[in-house]
Amino acid sequence: ANQTQRKPDWLRVKLPVGKEYRHVRSLVDEHKLHTICESGNCPNMGECWGAGTATFMILGNICTRSCSFCAVATGRPLPVDLDEPNRVANSVKLMGVKHCVITSVDRDDQKDGGSTIWAETILAIRRESPETTLETLIPDFKGQWDNLDRVLAVRPEVVSHNIETVRRLTREVRIQAKYDRSLECLRRIAEAGLRTKSGIMLGLGETEEDVIETMQDLYNVGVNILTIGQYLQPTKAHHPVVDWVTPQQFEKYQKIGLEMGFKYVESGPLVRSSYHAEKHLFDMQ
Ligand code: SF4
Ligand code: SF4
Repeated sequence: ANQTQRKPDWLRVKLPVGKEYRHVRSLVDEHKLHTICESGNCPNMGECWGAGTATFMILGNICTRSCSFCAVATGRPLPVDLDEPNRVANSVKLMGVKHCVITSVDRDDQKDGGSTIWAETILAIRRESPETTLETLIPDFKGQWDNLDRVLAVRPEVVSHNIETVRRLTREVRIQAKYDRSLECLRRIAEAGLRTKSGIMLGLGETEEDVIETMQDLYNVGVNILTIGQYLQPTKAHHPVVDWVTPQQFEKYQKIGLEMGFKYVESGPLVRSSYHAEKHLFDMQ
C-alpha cells in the first residue's frame, strides 16, 4: 500500500460529541484559546476534551527543526513570550482541564532551549489549577542536560519524549535529532524517578523487527508508558505514508510491549502521544 491509496476505514475520524466536549468547545471559542488538539485537527478531540484532557503547545509555532513528518512550520522563531506561562495557565483553568499535556516546538536558537519557559509554565498551571495533573512532552534540548534538568526539577506527573521512529529511519524522519540522544534523554527522565513516556509512529517504512528493537531500547532505558500510532501525512511535501498498519498488527505490538514489561501501551491506528493520557497516571511505588 502507499499514500496514493485512500485511508483505510479504521482511520475514519470520530465525530466529537458529548456535553463536556461542547462545554470546552464554547470556552475555547469564546476566549480564543489555542490547543494542539484543534490546530492539529486531532480525531480524538471529542473523547479527550470530554475526559478533561487537552494539549497546549508553547514557545511559539515556528520550530528550529524540520522533521519530515511534522506539520509545524520551520524557520526562525519569534522571541520568547514571557507572558506565555500565565496565558497557558489561564486557558487551562478556564477550560477546566484535569490532565494537561504541554508540548513545544524545539528552540535550538535559545541558550536555555526554552527550558525556563517550560518550568515557569508548569509552575503557573500548578498555581492556578492545583488539582490538574501535568504531562510534558519535551524536546531533547540538544543534549544540553542542564536544560532538561530545569524541567525535571519542577517534577511534572509524566514526562514524555518521543523517539518517533525506529533507529534505521531516524536520519530520514528527524534530521536534526539522534536516536541515541533521545534514548539518553529518556534514561535521564527515568533516573530522576519520574513517570517516563515515549511514542512511535508507524507507517514510515519500518519493519516489525525494527519496531520491536525500538520498543526494547525504550524499555531498557526505563520508559514506563508507550504509545504507538499510525503516521498520517500532513501535506504532500511531507514524508509519504509507506504503509497502513492494520489494527491487528497494533494489537500485536501492544501485547509484545506489555510482555516486555511496559506499564501501559496504547497501540492503535488513531493513537497519538496524548491519547488517553489521563489514564497513565499510576502509582510509581
Ligand atoms: Fe488533544 Fe492529544 Fe487528545 Fe488529540 S489525542 S485531542 S491532541 S489531547
Ligand atoms: Fe515538529 Fe517537534 Fe520536529 Fe519541531 S522538533 S519539526 S515541532 S516534531
